[in-house]
Amino acid sequence: MRRILVLGGTREARTLAARLDPEQDVEVISSLAGRVREPVLPVGRVRIGGFGGVEGLTTWLRDNDIDAVVDATHPFAARITANAADAADGTGVPLLVLRRAEWTSRPGDRWHTVPDLASAADAVAGLGERVFLTIGRQGVDAFADRPEWFLVRAIDPPDVGMPPRAELLLARGPFTVDDEIALLRRHRIDVVVSKNSGGALTEAKLDAARALGVPVVMVARAPIPAGVPTTSDLDVAVAWASQRG
Ligand code: NAP
Repeated sequence: MRRILVLGGTREARTLAARLDPEQDVEVISSLAGRVREPVLPVGRVRIGGFGGVEGLTTWLRDNDIDAVVDATHPFAARITANAADAADGTGVPLLVLRRAEWTSRPGDRWHTVPDLASAADAVAGLGERVFLTIGRQGVDAFADRPEWFLVRAIDPPDVGMPPRAELLLARGPFTVDDEIALLRRHRIDVVVSKNSGGALTEAKLDAARALGVPVVMVARAPIPAGVPTTSDLDVAVAWASQRG
């Protein structure tokens, strides 16, 4: 029996688990950080909670006889990706990163690409007074000192400091372009702030911003650790994981 650890918390990770789980001689264990109160659970075995850094993950891989790891975490979950790369190095367990493709700007887009959330907070100044902050709940505190008004959308309430003038909108995608246009209009949004998460589930906000000529402050992804094989193709990840061990 080959054992595959899927580091999850994304739709891609759930799809991968669903594709691998029925395969003969493959046991999938999906791992979630435990951030979301009511997570959408993948099929198969699931474990929840941090491992305890590189050391904890290294021990866990050994104790559980893991044959291969697919890191299918969110593109902005950089810490666990770095930890997985180090633990794979230390144990010799093969690692593949499954990462959805980035969004790229299209004609009509008014993107301001920035390297991190702190730069995004700076970039908001001068672009408008009413900001749609769609970065999820993690990192909202980067905007805690901004004087602008914010519409903060997240699945669960942020447990960090919010901007002093803010309204919280709890919602989980997918969202339609029509609904996103209506939302931007209703709140008279001047600027959208987004992470470059990629994927179809939350892309409608970018279509809406383009349709209305609203600028987008786009936070770029951190690079994947050097030397780690990476794919955005689920079929490639399924084939890779099926052949390990
Ligand atoms: P992170 O900063 O990269 O990781 C922080 C710590 O959380 C890690 O060191 C690890 O703790 C634990 N962790 C993260 N992902 C884990 C997983 N799949 N299984 C077990 N432990 C995990 O991650 P994050 O940005 O806080 O994201 C946490 C989770 O939410 C990820 O699984 C990610 O896929 C999902 N998510 C993140 C975002 C985002 O914008 N960041 C958006 C949507 C979903 P230990 O060091 O103790 O092992």
